[in-house]
Amino acid sequence: MSFADLGLSEELLRAIDESGYTEPTPIQRGAIPSVLMNRDLVGIAQTGTGKTAAFVLPMIDILGHGRSRARMPRSLILEPTRELAAQVAENFEKYGKYHKLSMALLIGGVQMGDQVKALEKGVDVLIATPGRLMDLFSRGKIMLNDCNLLVIDEADRMLDMGFIPDIEEIASRLPKQRQTLLFSATMPPPIQKLAAKFLSEPKTIEVARPATANVNIEQRLVVTRGDKKRDVLRDLLRHEEFKNAIIFCNRKTTVRELYTSLKRSGFAVGQIHGDMEQPARIAEFDRFKRDEINILVASDVAARGLDVKGVSHVINFDVPWQPDDYIHRIGRTGRAGAQGIAITLATKEDAEAVAQIEKLTGLKIPRVVQAATEPAAEEAAPAERPRRERRERKSPPAAAQPEPRLERTEPPPRRQREPEPTAERAEPSPRRPREPEPAEEGGWNGPLPDFLSVSLS
Ligand code: ADP
Ligand code: MG
Repeated sequence: MSFADLGLSEELLRAIDESGYTEPTPIQRGAIPSVLMNRDLVGIAQTGTGKTAAFVLPMIDILGHGRSRARMPRSLILEPTRELAAQVAENFEKYGKYHKLSMALLIGGVQMGDQVKALEKGVDVLIATPGRLMDLFSRGKIMLNDCNLLVIDEADRMLDMGFIPDIEEIASRLPKQRQTLLFSATMPPPIQKLAAKFLSEPKTIEVARPATANVNIEQRLVVTRGDKKRDVLRDLLRHEEFKNAIIFCNRKTTVRELYTSLKRSGFAVGQIHGDMEQPARIAEFDRFKRDEINILVASDVAARGLDVKGVSHVINFDVPWQPDDYIHRIGRTGRAGAQGIAITLATKEDAEAVAQIEKLTGLKIPRVVQAATEPAAEEAAPAERPRRERRERKSPPAAAQPEPRLERTEPPPRRQREPEPTAERAEPSPRRPREPEPAEEGGWNGPLPDFLSVSLS
């Protein structure tokens, strides 16, 4: 099925074609025709499945008719983070280039003046984070009486971030007669309630979540003591062959401390956390994308919105509290055609969280012993360790047999990045013709992976 079969306009098809998408993803196939028919919709699909274009594309055609009025946006898209909001805006720019749509972005950390000016002229599309929108509301800078289309994107993340009351407040100020779209990777009960309250007879499009995480990701669990984690990590970064790595921490203070410590050890490292101003976060992320640094320490929330994919390594410095976050985090790895590696440092205290993750993925994460590691009693290495072998990535060892796979002494520590052929870049330029790529989670760009099947209701 092609984009042309979905009922989109010629101009839009041209813009899509030029952007390099050749085929709609399952969520796009399922959602676009219904959205064009002005139906309410709940779209459930994991991260990286193309949910953004599933609403941006039909919205461009819907909004292509009619005009905006001063201070009254015609549509509103709510995003949990500034980065995600910025990405949605980029999508409107890219695909809306043959339409004359006006847009405003209302996000924290950015000067409000220009945003307010844009609003006063009237916009077709308002993209906002709930906090900033509520702020402008209270100053009477904005009216939503004419806003007939509402998108609640990344609803489960909104829930995690405590935005549900804001969303309820915002939604109740919109006209009752409107179209509402809700997208989420998961549907926990509070999101189901939200949908029941603010959507009317929605069509539900659910793209099946794979039972396990991506097969292209080799997962490992390194059991260590809490006070040894930094040593273990440093050791790992020195001995593991990696192109680039995102290191996830559960708290922003850990991000800061770990960043400082790695920097002091001479690594080419950057950091992204929720306390940083928007421009600083973007600048740091750009350095990572440009390969000026090859290690990025991040918190879940800060990394959530970043369009990172295809990093060679994801390292969980902390076991995530939410099993879903584990899938999101490791979904950043798994390069086209190559295996990604996801390494999780765990302490005895993390046993429950690890068990939850394994329950969700249906897989036991292979335990490995790492040089600087003192394995906890129950994870102890066999008395006689197997001889050091070159790591074999294709077949991870059985869960019960720890193997000193991270003890390789070469290559030497990677401090500064060497120039690398751009063809290896994680994010292909949108215009480059796409080669067939294997199924990947969290940012795949190629043909439809087999594991994605759509069920319509
Ligand atoms: P989600 O919101 O579901 O997490 P995104 O909308 O951010 O996913 O899309 C993930 C990635 O997939 C983006 O890099 C996007 O450009 C790409 N993508 C989306 N739709 C397609 C498509 N039809 N063909 C190829 N790549 C796509
Ligand atoms: Mg999204």
